[in-house]
Amino acid sequence: MKKKAIFLDRDGVVNKERQDYTWKVEDFEFTDGFFEAMKIFSEMGFLFFVITNQGGIAKGLYSHKDVEILNDLMCNAFKTNNLQLTDVYYCPHHSEIEKCLCRKPDSLLIEKCIANYNIDVKKSYFIGDRQRDVDAGAKVGLNTIKIKANESLLNYIELIK
Ligand SMILES: [Mg+2]
Ligand SMILES: [Zn+2]
Repeated sequence: MKKKAIFLDRDGVVNKERQDYTWKVEDFEFTDGFFEAMKIFSEMGFLFFVITNQGGIAKGLYSHKDVEILNDLMCNAFKTNNLQLTDVYYCPHHSEIEKCLCRKPDSLLIEKCIANYNIDVKKSYFIGDRQRDVDAGAKVGLNTIKIKANESLLNYIELIK
């Protein structure tokens, strides 16, 4: 049976957007009410995935390892809250350096995730703080929600069915 999922952008949705690249653990701060919202969505039966552009890798600002440390941090924080972050997909490219098909607003990472985890797109959502996030989600037929950067997801509970 197909599963329903919530796809989350990272910076500005999971953690606070700093108007600069976030790759250090000390700069990574969850948005207000994040886990309270995840708990509600989890009880509704959603799986969680993070889909994130990490163009700072292509620019040489930080490494795959730095991103993976933050991926582990997110997964562990979900566990601490008795929740599960099923997977994290990131694009390490940047359009100023090299073209790819996985950087949002392109949808390759979401397509891979949907195929790997047998996700029902019509019952699933993409939540992002930029137009490129909702454009990527809409390309594959997901319901999309655009929030303001760093806004609590608790403000959007009633939009998710
Ligand atoms: Mg963002
Ligand atoms: Zn890419």
